[in-house]
Amino acid sequence: MPDDKKTLTVIGSGPAGMMAAITAAENGMNVSVIEQNEKLCRKIYATGNGRCNFTNMSWKGDVIRSGDAKKALKIIKSFDNKALIEYFDSLGVPARIINDYVYPASEQALAVAEALISEAKKLKINLICNEKVTDIKIKDGKYDVYTPVGRYLSDKLLIATGGKASPIHGSDGNLNLKIKALGHHFVKQLPALVALKTDDKKLEKLSGVRVKCRAYLNIDGSAVFSEAGEIIFNKTNISGIPVMILSRYASLAFEEKKKVSLSLDFFPEYEEHMLTEKIQNLFYNAKAGQKTAYELLIGYLNNKLLDYCLTLAGINPDKPAYSNKHKNIANLSAVLKNFTLVTKGTEGFEKAQVCCGGIPLNEVSDRLESLKHPGLFFAGEILDVDGSCGGYNLQWAFSSGHMAGISAGRI
Ligand SMILES: Cc1cc2nc3c(=O)[nH]c(=O)nc-3n(C[C@H](O)[C@H](O)[C@H](O)COP(=O)(O)OP(=O)(O)OC[C@H]3O[C@@H](n4cnc5c(N)ncnc54)[C@H](O)[C@@H]3O)c2cc1C
Repeated sequence: MPDDKKTLTVIGSGPAGMMAAITAAENGMNVSVIEQNEKLCRKIYATGNGRCNFTNMSWKGDVIRSGDAKKALKIIKSFDNKALIEYFDSLGVPARIINDYVYPASEQALAVAEALISEAKKLKINLICNEKVTDIKIKDGKYDVYTPVGRYLSDKLLIATGGKASPIHGSDGNLNLKIKALGHHFVKQLPALVALKTDDKKLEKLSGVRVKCRAYLNIDGSAVFSEAGEIIFNKTNISGIPVMILSRYASLAFEEKKKVSLSLDFFPEYEEHMLTEKIQNLFYNAKAGQKTAYELLIGYLNNKLLDYCLTLAGINPDKPAYSNKHKNIANLSAVLKNFTLVTKGTEGFEKAQVCCGGIPLNEVSDRLESLKHPGLFFAGEILDVDGSCGGYNLQWAFSSGHMAGISAGRI
């Protein structure tokens, strides 16, 4: 008997493509997934340091960024964190929640990847690996997709090829020109969630230091965004979750040739005058005796960083604390609360976890169908949506994949 099901080709087997393929198959489509990598879901295995932080319980603040964040959030709401947790639970992957960050209980990303692959196989989705789509043509309302070794004709097409971040996992924007030829545009894609490069001499002494602080992003001299958490000083860059979160805005500022720096506040819980008072009390307290500034403050700050900040403030770390110049002691709190590093760029797409930019949401319907070509759908990072650190990018990939899959499945 001939199979009269409508056909759908999905390009890309990331979280968006796999979720879309599964949802469309559940909705009665005959689905093929074409993936250029040898392995399906390759990036998923690398997520969350191999643990896959697939969503988050907290949605406060601007955790989703886009030219139309409202539309993106509406799509996320249609298949939200709770629905996603339940979905993976139904596939045999229960969740573990750690400080609002959601992981598979096994804390192994492969659990998520393997659950999706096994579900796709159960639904008899045709999974094609090792084939890179090189061309897309639309003929008589059907989609013709070409790879170096094959040609796939289908009623509908869903593109989930990701952004440009982390090309080692397959996402490098190689189909963007073909998508542009179909009449779509791209908001410039830039690295986001990435370390910031600096050749500031301070790093020579501080490489390897991790410290909790509030990091302020200064653009052309004004602090515009800030994030708190642990930052890491490396030889040629500065990383850690707060820096990664701020990097999206730094990327945009670099693009506009603006001056970008980071100011670190190692004592955000104190106003500057309170910190000055606290330091003076410590230094001039009779009980401090002959103790050096270093000895008095070593319980408060990482030793390498403390040593550096004392020198920067003009305080001799080896002399009794009280014997330093009063003006230098008073200056120390300013150094500790405003430790500035000039940055000179991001570490680029190679090291980025996501990119910002992509196909603007005003070129697709609320159901993620192209407004230019009926039967063409997009999902995931290829769209102009990026999330903060904490599982928001995978949630977007899964929610948009789910929406596009349902949408494509409607006959
Ligand atoms: C190291 C790392 C860790 C991360 N950790 C997290 C995390 O813990 N939590 C979180 O929320 N987000 C995380 N992210 C981000 C998240 O993985 C991405 O946002 C998400 O994978 C995007 O999903 P996608 O399906 O849109 O694209 P991708 O996952 O990039 O998948 C796109 C797929 O399309 C394929 N493809 C591309 N072009 C073609 C072509 N021409 N023909 C055939 N196939 C093609 C690619 O090979 C790829 O497999 C991390 C990213 C990285 C790099």
